[in-house]
Amino acid sequence: MHRLLITDTLADSGLAILRAASDVELVYRPGLKGQELLDEVANSDALITRSGTSVTQELVNAGTRLRIVGRAGVGLDNVDVDACTARGILVINAPTANILSATEHTMAMMLALCRNIPEAHASVKRGEWTRAKFMGVELSGKTLGVIGLGRIGTRVTARARAFDMRVIAYDPYVPSIVFEKAGAKLVSLDELLGQADVITVHTPLTDETRGMLGADEIAKMKDGVIVLNIARGGIYEEGALAGALNSGKVAGAAIDVYVDEPPAAGHPLINAKNAILSPHIGANTIEAQDRVAVQTAEMVVDALHGSIFVSAVNLPFEGVSGAEAAPLISLAEKLGLFAAQLMNGPVTRAAIELWGIDERLLKILSVASLKGLLTPHLAESVNFVNAEQVAQNRGIAISATTHPIPRDYTNLITFRTSSDQEETSVSATLFSEKNQRIVSVNNFRVEFKPEGTLLYIVNKDVPGVVGKVGTLLGDAEVNIAEYNLARTVSGGKAMAIITIDSPLAP
Ligand code: NAD
Repeated sequence: MHRLLITDTLADSGLAILRAASDVELVYRPGLKGQELLDEVANSDALITRSGTSVTQELVNAGTRLRIVGRAGVGLDNVDVDACTARGILVINAPTANILSATEHTMAMMLALCRNIPEAHASVKRGEWTRAKFMGVELSGKTLGVIGLGRIGTRVTARARAFDMRVIAYDPYVPSIVFEKAGAKLVSLDELLGQADVITVHTPLTDETRGMLGADEIAKMKDGVIVLNIARGGIYEEGALAGALNSGKVAGAAIDVYVDEPPAAGHPLINAKNAILSPHIGANTIEAQDRVAVQTAEMVVDALHGSIFVSAVNLPFEGVSGAEAAPLISLAEKLGLFAAQLMNGPVTRAAIELWGIDERLLKILSVASLKGLLTPHLAESVNFVNAEQVAQNRGIAISATTHPIPRDYTNLITFRTSSDQEETSVSATLFSEKNQRIVSVNNFRVEFKPEGTLLYIVNKDVPGVVGKVGTLLGDAEVNIAEYNLARTVSGGKAMAIITIDSPLAP
């Protein structure tokens, strides 16, 4: 029998699946906290939570039997994934369950904003009848700017087009075919800001998107623009947006998500003019909650039965499959992550090649490299199960090949990616059991550990570069741990990979 502990409420549809599993002992204790929680976790093989239980290092350590954590939802803010991975615990989430709900909430907020529905409603309740006060605008004929043309962005596009809106979109990580299919015109961010009557953002929150819409970007928008954020708090600079609402530059804003949730009393957006606010309810529908519960329950049962083909954000192979594959899988994922950061422009092709590696690992290594490639721009919505499908949906052609005879190394993984503008290739090998090394980057021979913060520099091979870089880093009080140099020919192009002890400021 597998003992499964649930510490948040779960929709009946999910509970029914778990109760029907004959080898699962269900312990349903929503709201469990403190020592009691730790004691119950210590006796459980799997745990299902929503946002009410924080899966901390302490909790993970208490779970000596724990193999699976199921997060019935998308966000993993309350789960210490690294602590789980370190202990070989599989972390499962349900990233696709709420896409439609968030899409529809975006449309609901857009319409509510254009017709002043919250204010109008409140006025009638107060006994007023001031029709002239609530002059709205139509969506028809207006230009909608969609920032982030992923799963929700494309669905919002389809619905906006049904309202006869013209849709323009900005997403530097998807090729033009995705824009064509969605029916959105591909534009730059500046073009979008300057042309759109309504702007809606559907990117994840990443280092790049945090604060991407601040005072400077708002200044580039049309006067009287309407904006929405149903994605993640912090993509707009909240203070700048509130200021623009109060000055009338932005005519209205619909916000579902905040930097701090709930927003503190006196938060600038709460008192801003023409802001309509909802308490992060984009995913709150009966259908989405049902889907989350069903998907999580099914996957946790599958995982308890030994399947790794669940929507896992981590794959702690020590726990679930051959340990010898684990360092190769993590290496392939790092190659993808590395390539993602070298590439300019949307990736159109991704190819993995293996030399001297068991052919049976081809699929999982390919998937791992794609997950690494996609994660920087899609955050938590990509995992080992959907990575291949997500890549295909984003117009990336995938290939994977094996070669039996090793070249210069006993094993080698090469990951090539291309966009319309360029090609990148990165190769890596596993020296001993867990000793990962990247050994070539775009035909430069190197040898460095894919770990920590790495600085990648390409320059003309002339004297004085190393000294200058060292001085600049020194001035920024950044310590160099390793300095790897490579060049094609003397006086040609040179490349450096510098391992530094702390991240650099932008
Ligand atoms: P997705 O991963 O399918 O799509 C995100 C898109 O953003 C991708 O196409 C990516 O290329 C693009 N992108 C990344 N960085 C970008 C940048 N700097 N500029 C422009 N585009 C960029 O994600 P999704 O499922 O469509 O979700 C979109 C957002 O909605 C996420 O932040 C998600 O967390 C949020 N969400 C909110 C709710 C809610 O309750 N309000 C519910 C569901 C999802």
